[in-house]
Amino acid sequence: MEDYYQILGVSVDASQEEIKKAFHRLARQFHPDVLGSNKKNDDYFKKITESYQTLSDPDQRRHYNIKRIVRTSPQSPKSHVQDAAFFAFQGFSEFLNDLLFKDAAQATQAPTQGQHVETQLTVSFAEAYLGCQKSLSFKALRVCSDCKGKGWPPKHPPQKCPECHGAKVRLAKGPLPFKRSCKRCNGIGQIQAQVCRRCNGNCLFTETETIDIEVPPGVSHETRLCLSKKGSSGLHGGERGDLLVQVAVAPDSGFSRHGNDLKVSAPVTLSELLLGTQIRVKIPGDELTMRVPAGADLGQSFRLKNKGFAYHKKENRGDLYVTLKLTLPPHIPESALALLKQLAKIVPGF
Ligand SMILES: [Zn+2]
Ligand SMILES: [Zn+2]
Repeated sequence: MEDYYQILGVSVDASQEEIKKAFHRLARQFHPDVLGSNKKNDDYFKKITESYQTLSDPDQRRHYNIKRIVRTSPQSPKSHVQDAAFFAFQGFSEFLNDLLFKDAAQATQAPTQGQHVETQLTVSFAEAYLGCQKSLSFKALRVCSDCKGKGWPPKHPPQKCPECHGAKVRLAKGPLPFKRSCKRCNGIGQIQAQVCRRCNGNCLFTETETIDIEVPPGVSHETRLCLSKKGSSGLHGGERGDLLVQVAVAPDSGFSRHGNDLKVSAPVTLSELLLGTQIRVKIPGDELTMRVPAGADLGQSFRLKNKGFAYHKKENRGDLYVTLKLTLPPHIPESALALLKQLAKIVPGF
C-alpha cells in the first residue's frame, strides 16, 4: 500500500491547504513536461497525482485512513494473488496466499519511525557567543491519547470481515478453483467501520511541546542543531523522529562577526591615542584589557587571539579584532584651544 502522505511529503494531519501546496510544488518539479516523458517519470507523476486526488477529497481521505490503520503489506497482495490465477494451480496459489498474507499481517503492526520535525530558534548575539540554555516550543505529532494510536474508538474496534470471516481470501469458482483476496475487506480480514474522532484515524495528533535545549557557544545562522528522537512519535512502538533546530542570531549594534572572528570598536581620547594607554574592551560576558601604543593608527585593528567565537566541538576559537574610535570632548575651552594652536605651530604635522 502506497503511503500517500509520504509521497506528498506532508504529515498525516496536514490541512487541505498544506496538501494542495505540496502537490503544486511537486507537480512543478516532477511534471513529465519538465523532466521529460519516460516510464519512470510518468509513473512517479501518476503516484503524486493519485496521492493528491485521494487526500484532497475528505471522503476518500477518510476511507484511505481507515485502510491505513489496518495496513496491508507494502505491495498489494490482491494484485499478486490475481496474477497467481494464471498458474491455475491451487497448491501454488495457497502457498502464495500464505506468504503474502503473513507479510501483510506482520506489516499491520510494524513499528514505524516518527517524522523529523524542523523548527527555528532565535538567540541573541551574546547568547550565540557564550552559549545558553533556551526553552523551545515546537509542534510535533504525538500518539493520539483518545485511541492510544490505534486509529479507532476504543469501543468500536475492527470487526471480523463478514464475507471471508477473517480468512482474508475467498474461493473463486471456475474449472480450476483458486483462492483470491477477499474484495469486501481488501484482503485484510477485518472491517473498520469507525475512525477515532480526535485524530481522524491518523493515530497521531499535533501537540505543542516545550523542552529546554542546550545551545553550544559559537552558533551562527548556519547552525542546525539535531536533537535525536525529539521529533514526532512513531507508530506501533516505532522511535520518535529527530528535532532539527535552525538557529537564527539577532544582530547587535555593538559587535559584528566575520566567520568566527568577533569585531568591536573601542573609544580612545586624543591624548590616549598620542601618548599610549591601556583600555578596557567589552565583549559578551567579559571585559578585556588591551594596550594601545603611543601614536597608534585609528584605521588599525588590534588582534586578540582566541577571543572570538568558539568553533563547534573544538577547543580553539576565532580572534577578536578591536578598532579604535576617536572620541573628542564635547567642549574645549578657549585656553586649551590656544595651547593646541601653539602645539600646531611647533610640531610639524600636528
Ligand atoms: Zn485517535
Ligand atoms: Zn474479507
